[in-house]
Amino acid sequence: MSHTFTTDIAIIGAGPTGLFAVFQAGMLGFKCTLIDSLPEIGGQCTALYPQKPIYDIPAYPSITAGELIEKLEQQAMPFNPQFVLGQSVTTYHFDESTKLFTLETSEGLKIAAKAVVVAAGGGAFGPNRPPLKNIEQYEEKSVFYSVRKPESFANKHVVIAGGGDSAVDWANILADIAASVTVVHRRSKFRAHQDSINKMMHLVDDGKISLCTPYQLHSLVGENGQLSDVVVSDLDGNKVELAADVLLPFFGLRMDLGPLKQWPFDISEKGIVVDPLTMETSIKGTYAIGDVASYPNKLKLILCGFSEAAMAVHAIRAQLHPNHTFHFEHSTTKGVPGS
Ligand SMILES: Cc1cc2nc3c(=O)[nH]c(=O)nc-3n(C[C@H](O)[C@H](O)[C@H](O)COP(=O)(O)OP(=O)(O)OC[C@H]3O[C@@H](n4cnc5c(N)ncnc54)[C@H](O)[C@@H]3O)c2cc1C
Repeated sequence: MSHTFTTDIAIIGAGPTGLFAVFQAGMLGFKCTLIDSLPEIGGQCTALYPQKPIYDIPAYPSITAGELIEKLEQQAMPFNPQFVLGQSVTTYHFDESTKLFTLETSEGLKIAAKAVVVAAGGGAFGPNRPPLKNIEQYEEKSVFYSVRKPESFANKHVVIAGGGDSAVDWANILADIAASVTVVHRRSKFRAHQDSINKMMHLVDDGKISLCTPYQLHSLVGENGQLSDVVVSDLDGNKVELAADVLLPFFGLRMDLGPLKQWPFDISEKGIVVDPLTMETSIKGTYAIGDVASYPNKLKLILCGFSEAAMAVHAIRAQLHPNHTFHFEHSTTKGVPGS
């Protein structure tokens, strides 16, 4: 796919900070496109701790991370943001003649924008890949890090690796669909919700799931991307071959700034260096907010990211309209569309 569309502000990262930037930008009349490597909005809140209560969001004595994201989405929706999800931004380029930035995604989509806000947190989320020789050859053919269509594993021998919620939940779901389900975990104890573990143990008793513990993945056997066996080994190095059509490794997510590290703005060990008065990076027209932004005494807190979002979009407005004097208006005066 190669398609370019134009927006006012391209926001990289749909975590809490990027989402609030949509609202703040909308209040100043800007349209935003948010791009995130994850298939869902919410950044760390959605991916890492959706059920946990957060206690330091102003005016919410307690709110779960998942609820907070729902509310931020609700608050952004009157401004019709465009979401580009499941795609990482890989390249970044400024065209002096058009004065537009062009971002390109992992799927080849091109987004041209008058300003860029990097709200990338600790970086793009991706699966933790087990260190197995040639695993890339099998990925998306017979090794998958997420399940989109469980029914595609009907009548397949499925090996699931991991001991957390994803491993246990998918074992329980696929037990009724696949020809066989084997769960490989390097410990005998699982880290998932107790209800899910109990359900899995019933399915083990019924012969619908096999457990292979304490074992870990050792190597893959197959041809042309199609697995025939997964070899596992115990702590003493004793190996066992498990017949497998499909391997689902669920070892959590990792965050990596990846391509952003090569982009031309100043970046320190702590993140992208910004001017704390405007949140502008060392590249004019490109701003960084939230966890990814670095300045003296930075606090990596959601509430700081909200304030940084407001500061960045006000600075963008001043930059895009240098000859205009704007008068500050509260939301109570302006209202929001549809209110
Ligand atoms: C367990 C836990 C508990 C926490 N509790 C609290 C708390 O109580 N209070 C508090 O204030 N904070 C808490 N935090 C921290 C808080 O979650 C972060 O400060 C917040 O999520 C930062 O928001 P963000 O929008 O800057 O980045 P993130 O939430 O990290 O979102 C960044 C998004 O950018 C995307 N991205 C990155 N690079 C790219 C790219 N190249 N292309 C496309 N997408 C990209 C990522 O996929 C991600 O979705 C907690 C964190 C954890 C892990």
